[in-house]
Amino acid sequence: MTLTCPACRHSRTTPFLELGDVPVFCNVQWDSRARAQAAATGPLALSACVDCGHVFNRAFDAARLAYAPGYENSQHASSVFRSYAERLVDRLIELYGIRDRSVVDIGCGRGDLLALMCERGGNRGYGFDPSYAGSTVAASDTPFTIQREFFGADHAAKIRPSLVSCRHVLEHVEDPIDFLRTLRTAIEACGDAVLYLEVPSGEELLESHGLWDYLYEHVSYFTASSLRAVLNAAGFEVLAMRRDFGGQFLCADARVAPRALSAAEHCGRSEPAVRAAAQAMLGRLDRWKQWAAELPHGQTVSLWGAGSKGVMFLNLLGLAAPRRIDRVVDQNPDKHGRFVSGTGQQIVAPEALRGSGIAQVVLMNGIYESEVRGRLQDLGVDTRLTVAWP
Ligand SMILES: [Zn+2]
Repeated sequence: MTLTCPACRHSRTTPFLELGDVPVFCNVQWDSRARAQAAATGPLALSACVDCGHVFNRAFDAARLAYAPGYENSQHASSVFRSYAERLVDRLIELYGIRDRSVVDIGCGRGDLLALMCERGGNRGYGFDPSYAGSTVAASDTPFTIQREFFGADHAAKIRPSLVSCRHVLEHVEDPIDFLRTLRTAIEACGDAVLYLEVPSGEELLESHGLWDYLYEHVSYFTASSLRAVLNAAGFEVLAMRRDFGGQFLCADARVAPRALSAAEHCGRSEPAVRAAAQAMLGRLDRWKQWAAELPHGQTVSLWGAGSKGVMFLNLLGLAAPRRIDRVVDQNPDKHGRFVSGTGQQIVAPEALRGSGIAQVVLMNGIYESEVRGRLQDLGVDTRLTVAWP
């Protein structure tokens, strides 16, 4: 049990939300329902820091997680996400003059962001990702390479990147300050690269009662203040900090500071405010349990989105397949035919809804609503669309 805040290292933390045992991997899909339903679980016991507002799973145990190939969380199949990524890449290229340079992406997956950096800025890309399962040999038409390793000072000295990006990694790391210190040592070895960090916004979850976004893979849910605290403690200075992607992502541009800076200003919420947010989330969970209990017998319902929100929704509601919800639609072809951790729904392509007589589709992320409505229309699927977020 961790009682000290992993971001500002103060001990004024308060437990506020217990969500029980959940699958330890939301972003691993399984090759059979039996294996999916036997997937390992771990407890989600959330505490909030009264000083910096950081939220973390105090029951997190890294030993339960070993990032194995099969980890798939690419969102680039969605046009909404792709246009977000293009805007992000264009901003970094413009603002920091990243053209005809070397760029590094840590936790790069199959290299979607690197591809954009190379395509739109004529850059050379180097990806690092120990969980990457695909080929590490660059195809003749891909201007980037991927190494199944952690990025270190040796790599930095050879590559000399002008930009190091690290998207949706820090929230998985048990000791974010230690992780960033290692990164600082590497970046220092090569000059003055800009660091771009992106994490899910912990503030957004408290404000919009984003219950489905607390997951075992994430130790940490950063606020602007707690992200600044870890960056400063590790010896980075923040150049810019903002929220994007409908407020769901917290983004920071930073660079190496001459020395470690002091922790951030106080921005924690009071204990009653955090508890009120937790009450609202539990109320929301009860309403969805009621919705599931009242589904007419024999009605076919599908979920849209096999990302972590969808997996947590199914598991927190205890909707084990094949009853109630028998499958989950996702646009990522790498997930098709595989099964969701815990509840065991099969993941299918949107085309599978054609002619299925589906009565209701539950969409996990409202930011995709118009895209999904258009997709259903194109497929000729006449169904009710319900948004589980916000
Ligand atoms: Zn804190």
